[in-house]
Amino acid sequence: MKIMKVSELVETSNNSPLGNGGFFFDAGFTYLEQLVSKEKTILITDENVFAANHIIFDGWKTIVIKAGEQYKQQAAVDGIIAQLIEMEAGRNTFIVGVGGGVVTDITGYAASIYMRGLKFGFVPTSILAMVDAAIGGKNGVDVGAYKNLVGLIKQPEFLLFDYSLLQTLPQAEWINGFSEIIKHACIKDAELFSLLEKNEIGHFQADKNLLAALIETNVRIKTTVVVADEFEKGDRKLLNFGHTLGHAIENIYGLAHGHAVSVGMMAACTISGEINNFDAAEKERVKLLIQKYHLTSAFAFDKEKIWSLLKMDKKRVSSEMNFILLNKIGEGIVKPIPMEQLEYLIGLPNPSKRGAYDSSKT
Ligand code: NAD
Repeated sequence: MKIMKVSELVETSNNSPLGNGGFFFDAGFTYLEQLVSKEKTILITDENVFAANHIIFDGWKTIVIKAGEQYKQQAAVDGIIAQLIEMEAGRNTFIVGVGGGVVTDITGYAASIYMRGLKFGFVPTSILAMVDAAIGGKNGVDVGAYKNLVGLIKQPEFLLFDYSLLQTLPQAEWINGFSEIIKHACIKDAELFSLLEKNEIGHFQADKNLLAALIETNVRIKTTVVVADEFEKGDRKLLNFGHTLGHAIENIYGLAHGHAVSVGMMAACTISGEINNFDAAEKERVKLLIQKYHLTSAFAFDKEKIWSLLKMDKKRVSSEMNFILLNKIGEGIVKPIPMEQLEYLIGLPNPSKRGAYDSSKT
């Protein structure tokens, strides 16, 4: 096991917005008993994680919620609060979310509003939660189809990484998680990009040390960005690379998140080529990497439908949209693009020529 404080993981001043919470890398789940008192702690997990790993929950008070993004709604939070009351949770009850990003997002939110805020920590169990969702303190729920519309920013006290829990993660979720890892490589880390090129998912599944190093690198990337910009005024926006278009595609076509993001990353690479001199050979490398990790690089979508959603995106600022582009592999930038230009760039040259847009042509 490797224990690191925020200040050891990334360069930060003493008043880091993340406090000085602990990262417990390569820890066994049982180490949780050293971090919190079993009597005063309530775990929150989902039905899949509970079913796949029920032994680890033995002896812990546990709330089990329904699995899946469709249940990341206020109703789940109300259900948790009802159970916290039933379990007589008080001001010094500690809450731990054990699960994927849905569980960590809901847990952080429910813990933060119950009795105006209980302390909480996370044991992320999916690749996506380990490298992304559990880090950075964004907690909340969707409202109907509006993703993450309600919530707050509050940091967990600790993150405990037990890689053995990934043994039960379905392959499709490994693939989804690698989309965010490729995103991190594209915007921040050319070396990570090369490492991914030299390997494939199976290598990380077979080699625990390789996986541990990969997770740690990605935790460091995300934490560095968040420490510098907790409230998304600047650099944190880079983490939206591929997500603006990705969310729209996910929303309309129900494509899995990782695949929608990879299609979004390819579109962002194309736009980067058109207005930011991003090299065509580098774009090809991104495409090959996306394909190597079994993600989608091309998807035919109805550009008008997509455009109608993009116009409503949170990242729009009056007549411009902050779009994330690449200068080169490993270096992302935030670029405000006028809405008219963006309309053209996603393939809507003028209203009379509107029709289906095939991203494979990009
Ligand atoms: P998820 O939590 O739905 O998990 C994916 C599936 O895998 C679920 O069915 C879950 O039950 C199952 N699962 C998870 N761990 C498992 C394990 N070890 N064994 C067996 N099954 C397991 O989805 P996710 O991809 O982990 O996270 C996506 C969510 O994260 C989204 O709601 C997204 O908005 C959120 N997110 C939040 C942030 C943030 O900064 N807060 C960042 C990125 C994503």
